[in-house]
Formats: sequence, C-alpha cells, structure tokens
Amino acid sequence: MLTGAVPWPAALARRYRRDGYWTGETLAELLRGPARDRPTHPAVATRADQVGYAELDRRCDALAGGLRAAGARAGDRWVVQLPNSVELVTVCVAMFRLGVIPVLTLTAHRLAEIGSLCASADAAGLVIPDVHLGYDHRTLARAVAAAVPGVRSVVVAGEPAEFTALAELAGADPVDPAPPDPDEVALCLLSGGTTGLPKLIPRTHNDYAYQLRETATAMRLDGSGAYLAALPVAHNAALGCPGVLGALRCGATAVLASSPAPDDAIPLIGRAGVTLTTLMPAFLPLWAASADLFDVDLSRLVIEVGGAMLDEATARAAEQALGCTLTRWFGMGEGLLSFTRVDDPPGVRLGTEGRPLCPADELRVVGEDGRDVAPGAVGELLTRGPYTLRGYYRADEHNTRVFTRDGFFRTGDLVRMTPAGDMIVEGRIRDVINRGGEKVPAGEVEEHLRAHPLVRDAALVAVPDRAMGEKSAAFVIPAGASPPSLAQLRDFLRGRGLAAYKLPDRLALVERFPHTAIGKVDKARLRDEMLVAPAG
Ligand code: AMP
Repeated sequence: MLTGAVPWPAALARRYRRDGYWTGETLAELLRGPARDRPTHPAVATRADQVGYAELDRRCDALAGGLRAAGARAGDRWVVQLPNSVELVTVCVAMFRLGVIPVLTLTAHRLAEIGSLCASADAAGLVIPDVHLGYDHRTLARAVAAAVPGVRSVVVAGEPAEFTALAELAGADPVDPAPPDPDEVALCLLSGGTTGLPKLIPRTHNDYAYQLRETATAMRLDGSGAYLAALPVAHNAALGCPGVLGALRCGATAVLASSPAPDDAIPLIGRAGVTLTTLMPAFLPLWAASADLFDVDLSRLVIEVGGAMLDEATARAAEQALGCTLTRWFGMGEGLLSFTRVDDPPGVRLGTEGRPLCPADELRVVGEDGRDVAPGAVGELLTRGPYTLRGYYRADEHNTRVFTRDGFFRTGDLVRMTPAGDMIVEGRIRDVINRGGEKVPAGEVEEHLRAHPLVRDAALVAVPDRAMGEKSAAFVIPAGASPPSLAQLRDFLRGRGLAAYKLPDRLALVERFPHTAIGKVDKARLRDEMLVAPAG
C-alpha cells in the first residue's frame, strides 16, 4: 500500500472480499472488454469529437508508453487538471494502466490549491490544458514548478510552450505494463471541504471498481445507454457514480459536456441518446426553465440530483417540467453513496436521499456526545464500508479528528432516517449558525424561506456579531418583481412554527448566488459580501 495511505483492517478486508465487494478488478482493465466485443461502438463523445472503444483503448496504451518514457512510474502521483475532454479520459486510463496515481483537480483551481496539492501529494508531474476559459495554465505550471521542485514533468494538452506536449506522448509505442495490485491506490480525489485547503482522498482499485460496478447496476446503465458528464469529470459524481468510468466499464458511451449550462449540455442529450446524467440542485431550475428551447425528448433520461440540499417541491416541479425521471443522491468523494432508485415510490424517490449503495455500508447517526440518537432523530452521520476511505492521504493529525477509533468517518453532515430506512439530509454541522449558544441549522431555515411565494431561492449564512458571537443573514433571490422584506419573511417563518432564534437577523436581496467550482452555493463568498456591505 502506498506509504501515507491508510489500509482497511485485515479482518474487514477479508470480509469485503469474501462477500464479493472486492473482486480484484482493477481500473487498468477499463475499456478492455468493450474494445474487444464492440470495437467501433462510441466510447467517448463530445460536441466536436467521437472515439470508438478500440481506438480509445489503443490511445490509452500509447499514452501509457509516452508517460513511461517521460519518467512516470508506478506509485508516482501526478496532478491532473484538465477540463472535460477525451484527453482527460485517456490520461486517467493510461495512468491506471501504469499504476501512476492521478490526483484529479478542477480547472478552477489556482496556485494556492495546485501548489498545495502538488506538495501534499509529493507529485512528480502535472497535466494541464494550455489555455482554458481565458486562463493560461502554463503560467500556473511555471509558478507551481518553481514552488514545488518535486514536480519534474509538466504535460500540456495543446500548445506546450517550454513543457511537454500531450500529443507527443500520445504518439509513443504502446506498452502493456504488469497489472496493478487491486488493493493499491488507483486515484486520489479531493475533499469537498469548504474551509481550508482540500485534502487528498485515496481510492483503491478494488473500492472504486466496486463503486463503478454497483452504481451502474443500480442506475441501470449498460451497453445500450449513454452517460452525460455535465459536471466536471474530475469530481466523484461525474467520474464514478457511475459517471464516465462506470460508463466505460460497462460499454456505454460517456458523453462529455463542457459545462452543465443548458446550452452546453441539453443538446448533447438528444444527439448522443443520453440515458443518465448527474446534476447539482442549483442547475435543476435552469434546466427546467429552458428545456423547451431545445426540442429534445427527455422521456428516457434519468437525472441523479444531489451534492447539496434540495427540497421535494423543486424536485417534483423540475421532473414534471423536464418530462424525465429524477432520482436523488447524497454522496462524497470520501466514499459513501446513498441514493434513491428509479422504481422507488415518488415520495421516496423525490423526497429522500434513499439507501446506501452497499449492504456492508455501516451508518451511525450520533449526537454531540457521540452516542447514537433515537431512531428518526437528527444527528451527525458516521460511516464506514468497503468504498469509504479509512484516512486522508498523509494527514495523520486531521485523521485523528475526523475518524473514530474504530474507523468510522465523521461526515459532518446532519441526517435523519425515516422509519423505512431512507436518509434525509438536514444540513451540515458546520452549516449551523451558533447564535449566542442557540444552534440554527441553515438548511432547515432555507427550506422554510423557499416556501415563501416571493422567494425563489435562499441561503442562510453566519455573520459575526459582537453580542451573540454569530447572527444569521438570509441571502434571497426574489421570485418576481416585488421582493419580500425582512419583516415579511420573519413573520412567515414564525407562522410556520420556527423558533424565534432561527428567524434571519438580516436580509440581502441578490439576483444569483456565487457557486463554488463544483456548483455548490459559495457561502464563504456570501459571508464576505455581507461583511463588506452589511444589509438589512
Ligand atoms: P463532495 O465530496 O465534494 O461531493 O462533497 C460531499 C459533501 O456534499 C457531503 O459531505 C455533503 O455535505 C454534501 N452533499 C452531498 N450530497 C448532498 C445532498 N444530497 N444533500 C445535501 N448535501 C449533500
């Protein structure tokens, strides 16, 4: 096992093997079956490009040869920062075959994140685009290489300047290296933490292959279908739930959009016969409002929606407007996935986050004292299982805080279970405003605010307060021309039975919310805005 990665205890590992979750399959095998059985079937499609299975398989072997010639060795970490593209897929599979560990990062990351990632991963290489959305990543690479001397190679998709062109490596002679150890780390994802710099999540071949296989089965993705990556492929949701890798594993087509904007994504659904995609809730109303413009039949489409809080009414309205099937998921790059299935009754499918992926997922809901709460009560979700990490990479001190002694990961998410065993997410622990000792769960208040007829969307953030420590500020996107006042909203929430301390202290009206690179409402930025220009 890679030094610095935390293995599962031997007894659990034996059980996961015995029960068939870890089968010894590695990500190096991706594409091999379909390349043999359906060589010309489209493996990856973008707006401009389409590559069949046999050709993609050949390109991955050639690039593995090129990367090896450039010095990449099994066990090396390479930070990969590429937009959704055929190149990104090829780089990942080539690295899996070599046993090189891609550390997948978003194109929105800059020196602070990439520099810190390269240092903490002790990365030997960096793969970047030349220019993406007007930003020259070669400038970034120069600064990273100067700051982190261990980064020996920079490979550029496009014009390489003084670096190595990806196209040059792709022309190398194919290699067929020894298969990687299935218990070894296959890739690293980044934690979605909104505070501090992202941590590295090591995922093994065995655990990720399990996730790809079972999410595809559960979401009924097979060789007759196509998966659309509208979110960044570097994110677990679009990479492996089942995502692009899950599609390639089962011989489906992986369709890559450049963004989840309706203009970029929806036309591809019709053109490539997409049957499954993943969205964050923020994009759902946009898709619902603009689907009609595209004349695309979405009746075969399943959209997995998750990653952030979603209320049932929005989910129902969007499903109806789009004429597709919605399911909901709750998940994290760290592992655990809980989701609803297409044949769940509508109340479960649209109103809960469903059940975990694996029968061996262990879930606990605990109170502040660390003890299990009463059935149905809200508490922090703790989990361990065959595809949930046992520790962030090289983060011993942090690990002692976020894992229990018996290896449960403290998710920081507040959930409750329905009597039928479906999960409902109530918010995050750190998304709780501590108002003079009284705790205000932002998610709960936001849901009530969204129910107000003059409110389209709402986000509640903590702002510092001399007397109370923290107070709450509601950022509201009005539903129409006449915006609600703070007094109206407070009256409304009071009328819905909310405790007085949960009523927002301030109100700011905005046209839209800033989003983090992955599409979550960026509460840190909202908070900063409130501090610069205090409102209501
Ligand atoms: P990431 O690893 O970037 O996917 O972030 C994982 C975090 O996103 C989780 O720990 C949750 O805080 C949040 N999250 C994921 N799914 C949901 C959901 N369905 N509802 C609310 N929050 C979610």
